[in-house]
Amino acid sequence: MPFSTLHSALNQRAATGLLRTRRTVSSPASPHVMVDGKSYLSFCSNDYLGLANHPQLITALQQGAQQWGVGAGAAHLVSGHTAAHHELEVVLAAFVSKPAALLFSTGYLANLGVVQALVGRGDTVYADKLNHASLNDAMLLSRANIKRYRHNDVAHLSQLLQKTTGVGRKLIITDAVFSMDGDLARLPELLALCEQHDAWLLVDDAHGFGVLGEQGRGVLSHYALNNPRIIYMATLGKAAGVSGAFVAAEQVVIDTLLQNARTYIYTTASPPALASALIASLYLIKQDEWRRVQLQKLITQLRVGLKNLPWKLLPSDTPIQALIVGENNAVLELSSALRARGIWVPAIRPPTVPLGTARLRISLSAAHSTQDVDQLCNALHEIKR
Ligand code: PMP
Repeated sequence: MPFSTLHSALNQRAATGLLRTRRTVSSPASPHVMVDGKSYLSFCSNDYLGLANHPQLITALQQGAQQWGVGAGAAHLVSGHTAAHHELEVVLAAFVSKPAALLFSTGYLANLGVVQALVGRGDTVYADKLNHASLNDAMLLSRANIKRYRHNDVAHLSQLLQKTTGVGRKLIITDAVFSMDGDLARLPELLALCEQHDAWLLVDDAHGFGVLGEQGRGVLSHYALNNPRIIYMATLGKAAGVSGAFVAAEQVVIDTLLQNARTYIYTTASPPALASALIASLYLIKQDEWRRVQLQKLITQLRVGLKNLPWKLLPSDTPIQALIVGENNAVLELSSALRARGIWVPAIRPPTVPLGTARLRISLSAAHSTQDVDQLCNALHEIKR
């Protein structure tokens, strides 16, 4: 039977509590979602500012579709690059204080494209062990030498840099906000090492853009970093509420991506109407300070509410809050117990996180209310008994 090995691999996954499943949602993005006819209070979404279903974005998307149609029809370097994409790139570059920006269809593609365009055989990539899968895949595909440093361990990275010999390029890559832990990369120290060793720093701000920094300008604003060595990448499907990603950097870096980033060159441009929606989103990100204020209030409330539970809450000041349960089946049980109470929190297991650190990944949104957060905390305290 040609599929027997696939069946046994899937059975093996199921037996170890690692089978991935999905649930079909039948309502728009919101803290309250419908699944199989039942309403759940959800802490799963990366819609940190509550913009994914905002009426102004919906109108902008509709108007964008009226103006541009639905599909871009071709790759950016053929005929798919519209004035809407172009305007968005200009606005995004200015927003994060970089000379130029380039749009990608997704964050996954952006990371693959940037790393592969900037380094190759004979070069070295230095990567935090807890980086997102897209950065890990990017470095593997680039064919550069790979050095992974212990999570946020700048001394370890420094040793690895010192040991590197040869003339190749050096690129340090890191999540800005670690996607499964919620903590921040120590960017000022990483940048100092870049200066010392003549390296570049690729910062993936998927979870910081819109949330951190002045007016939500992201992690570089948060740390007040402005340095040409930094290649900034952020996604537009999380706090920005739409879809896509961009890279912002020196003009020469962007020019190089345009020539060499295969995931930019060989894919259809995203629908221009998405760019229209994103321009509207950027306006709200800048203007609606109350969303970030609300988010901070909920983060503090949640952290207080999760005290005195048997599971370890990782340190984090961001909307990503991880409650470490340990074993795969134990986290699945906890997630099911919450679901039975009408609350949906995803159970994250290896290989997405290291073995033995299966966890609930609670993500907060400005669209949550203090009552929502209370409900989650009360349920966890009830379950622990
Ligand atoms: N980088 C990080 C840190 C992420 O968390 C994600 C998405 N989970 C991505 C990149 C990929 O972004 P996208 O969903 O736009 O492909």
